[in-house]
Amino acid sequence: MIKVEEALTIIEANSAKMPAQQIAVSKALGYVLAEKVISPIHMPPFRQSAMDGYAFIHSIKHQYDIVSTSQAGDHSNLKLNANEAVRIFTGAFVPDAADTVVMQEHVIANKNSILIAAMPAKSANIRPKGEQIAKDDIVFEAGTLMTPAAIGFLASLGITEIKVHKKPKVAILVTGNELVKPGEKLKKGKIYESNSVMLQAALETIGIKKTKVYSVKDNLKATKKALKSILKKYDIVLISGGISVGDYDFVKEALLQNDVKELFYKINQKPGKPMFFGSKNETLVFALPGNPASSLTNFYIYVVPAIKSRIGFLEIHKTKVIRKLNSDLKNNTGKTLFLKAKYNETHVEVLDSQSSAMLNTFAVANSLLIVPEGIEEYKKGQLVTLLPID
Ligand code: AMP
Ligand code: MG
Repeated sequence: MIKVEEALTIIEANSAKMPAQQIAVSKALGYVLAEKVISPIHMPPFRQSAMDGYAFIHSIKHQYDIVSTSQAGDHSNLKLNANEAVRIFTGAFVPDAADTVVMQEHVIANKNSILIAAMPAKSANIRPKGEQIAKDDIVFEAGTLMTPAAIGFLASLGITEIKVHKKPKVAILVTGNELVKPGEKLKKGKIYESNSVMLQAALETIGIKKTKVYSVKDNLKATKKALKSILKKYDIVLISGGISVGDYDFVKEALLQNDVKELFYKINQKPGKPMFFGSKNETLVFALPGNPASSLTNFYIYVVPAIKSRIGFLEIHKTKVIRKLNSDLKNNTGKTLFLKAKYNETHVEVLDSQSSAMLNTFAVANSLLIVPEGIEEYKKGQLVTLLPID
């Protein structure tokens, strides 16, 4: 049995980045750059007015004749004299001769002239050429996540394609004789199979949209056969159930017989102890406990960083949150605890129903409170560490 930190280190060391692919910027949300992007242009490409107003040569004079108009999209680069101004609009080209724009609210305008009531500072209200980025400068380094703003910025530079890491193809293999699909009639002794949709939903939150679900009965031959083909087709395989020590738990044996290399089995934690992590070629295998709450806990703790690492994220762990505990807490297990918890602006409450089988309170939790294995108790008011979950 290994420690949580050791398990995380092994996972990180084995979660290589996916190969790169070229994709359209418009389709890049949630992908991570595989190489840096260089700007093909200055942005803005020319000196732009930041206001609707008047462009002029800054001086102590307040009275100017309006000699021309520059609308967004125009490019009239006329000469200006000291007593002349150009009517100008937001985003429009500022004639080279002008060095300042006064906003129209600060002007008393007549038909052909203006009187500047509040004189702006020299070069006010002009966005310099290349203010955001200069041509040939680095827009983003490799490892940058494509957010809506990043996509917008790339588009503003005229960039249509980028190189990103592929997203891993993920399969879920569900095991258990007792499982029935939701929607079907529940016969005696059976339960509804809920781990696959739960894991699919959890995968969606980290940008893995299409996931194939397979299922097998508790049978070594069937499990081995299913895994044989799944291992060839996917980058990440999540298995639910059958990884504990029961007489009908065949997953570990089926994995080993498929030449999956065992990287660890069992972690000193509660819930979620019976988990197997292994690899075959580039494919990673997480055999998660069947108990729903354990399965989801281990997804958040172990699968999320592995997938983020494969997608190319530089920061693979979610930022932890620190809050004051609102009651005493004991840990006499000698294991790391992951407790379903709910935090607000200042405090955190540990929820009831912490059993590994129970999703009822997990469903309203917004975090997992981490009690490291060496800690035997926390007192009310003490600061504790939480992993936020969405
Ligand atoms: P196992 O890890 O296969 O021993 O399963 C542990 C517990 O989780 C048992 O009570 C199972 O019935 C339950 N379980 C296993 N797989 C699922 C699943 N896909 N959906 C809901 N419950 C499950
Ligand atoms: Mg089972």
